[in-house]
Amino acid sequence: MSVVGIDLGGTKIAAGMFAGGTLRSRVTVPTPEAGGQAVIEAMAAAVKAAMNEAGSEGGAIAKGIGLGTPGPLDYAKGLIKFAPNIAGFNNFPIRQLLEEASGMKVYLENDANAAALAEHVLGAAKEVDSSLFVTVSTGVGGGFVLSNRVLRGAHGQGAEVGHITVLPGGPLCGCGLDGCLEAVATGPAMERMALAVYKTETNTRELFARFQGGEPKAQRIVLQAAGYVGIGLASLVKSFDPEMIVLGGGVALNAGQAYLDEVLRVYHRYMEGWIAPPVQLAKLGSEAGLLGAALTAAVEVGEV
Ligand SMILES: [Zn+2]
Repeated sequence: MSVVGIDLGGTKIAAGMFAGGTLRSRVTVPTPEAGGQAVIEAMAAAVKAAMNEAGSEGGAIAKGIGLGTPGPLDYAKGLIKFAPNIAGFNNFPIRQLLEEASGMKVYLENDANAAALAEHVLGAAKEVDSSLFVTVSTGVGGGFVLSNRVLRGAHGQGAEVGHITVLPGGPLCGCGLDGCLEAVATGPAMERMALAVYKTETNTRELFARFQGGEPKAQRIVLQAAGYVGIGLASLVKSFDPEMIVLGGGVALNAGQAYLDEVLRVYHRYMEGWIAPPVQLAKLGSEAGLLGAALTAAVEVGEV
């Protein structure tokens, strides 16, 4: 018994056959720049290649496809409402088109929710019944999982943790509002601050090197961003009360121990008098998206 997972990103599509709790194959192709139907055809071909590569190991026939995609989704209609990094994806009926192209049933999930599910079932949170996943990289995403079920909310915007307000009146966010966590805590947010401070372009990697070397301006930028993550985590715990928080993403995993210490210091400051669930680092790395996509289908067909 097996399913296929697809992790659809703005630059690449990963597909893999999943059975017995692990990926049996992994195929990666570029995301066609033409977008729209070309992406559907690339995904269908990747599914076929992933099934071929798995061979007999992968089990006979996949019972469905789990598709992790960027952008807010209309789960009832199987639409991507919009995905800024992929052309032609406005109110795009991705589920129906992929079902037609692949001949298989397709189960959709938002990519951050998929990663949350993967960490919950197979990663850092596999021993607990409820977990909140927060990823800090070029954006801030996340998902809340209870008993292997992702909270999508009534309108598909559940656990859009990047857009909780942590600094009213602060920098504008891509969503159009001001002071979102995503506007003050991500790599691009830190790069904007670095440009203002150093008067020259400084990428996240350079900034982290200066930060880890103890340079005072870098300290101020990175620790401020860490603090906003800590505030965000405390607010989220009071909303969801998970048994565990799983923190992942390129910023959280690469900024260094002093960054994590500051996240935790501020988190505990705003949890004073409350029960503060433990914060664990994500374990599955870049594989979380693909595993989570596959698990989305596996949960739906009763394999998990
Ligand atoms: Zn926002």
